[in-house]
Amino acid sequence: MLEARGLGKSFGPTRALAGVSLEIAEGEIVAVTGPSGSGKSTLLHCLAGVVRPEAGEVVLDGRRIDTLPEEELTRLRRESFGVVFQFGELVPELTAAENVALPLLFNRHGRQESMTAAAEWLARLEVSDCAGRRTDELSGGQRQRVAVARALVTGPRVVFADEPTGALDTLGGEQVMSALLGAARAARAAVVLVTHDNRVAAYADREIALRDGAVLAGVER
Ligand code: ATP
Ligand code: MG
Repeated sequence: MLEARGLGKSFGPTRALAGVSLEIAEGEIVAVTGPSGSGKSTLLHCLAGVVRPEAGEVVLDGRRIDTLPEEELTRLRRESFGVVFQFGELVPELTAAENVALPLLFNRHGRQESMTAAAEWLARLEVSDCAGRRTDELSGGQRQRVAVARALVTGPRVVFADEPTGALDTLGGEQVMSALLGAARAARAAVVLVTHDNRVAAYADREIALRDGAVLAGVER
């Protein structure tokens, strides 16, 4: 469904990706692991269409997407992808419900419909009580649940999560992780999850280990 073919990306003299190929199937949950600086975030950004690779291709459903014009790529990202980052990156002065409704409003859905869908997703992530509160007043775990709801509200094909529990304690992290994966499985969204935590990687269907911008042979499970 989503494919990387020989991805390469450098930042000045630093080779962040040195020819990465992989394929992610419909609804599959893949953990991308590896030490700091091994290229995990860069790979995620290339797959998600946030960073354009210098070499290789990103292909979604047989269609090359890394060379799309900016406007078309932005539209595709909004329709097909959801993202969750380490610190949620919610809009602090908006309520939780408004944050979750935002991607739908960007996709030109009506306000009423968007707010209804947001309320449903907050309920699924068990944070209905946060709906009317500004997100800068929420706990880290509550914020990440709101970020997960926002990533899934549009019905994406793929959710990209970069260290989504990195800022939480063990218990909080595990709760957010199971909420993310449970909701993604129910919505049949694939998940590409960046982590350097082995416990988190154990939740995935498959692990892809990176070293120095390349897939480590033999570690894929
Ligand atoms: P971490 O676990 O610390 O988040 P990572 O595996 O996500 O690391 P990347 O962020 O993908 O690693 O970085 C891969 C390499 O590319 C590193 O050497 C990093 O310093 C470099 N790099 C990444 N982004 C940039 C940038 N915007 N400018 C310059 N160098 C960058
Ligand atoms: Mg990173």
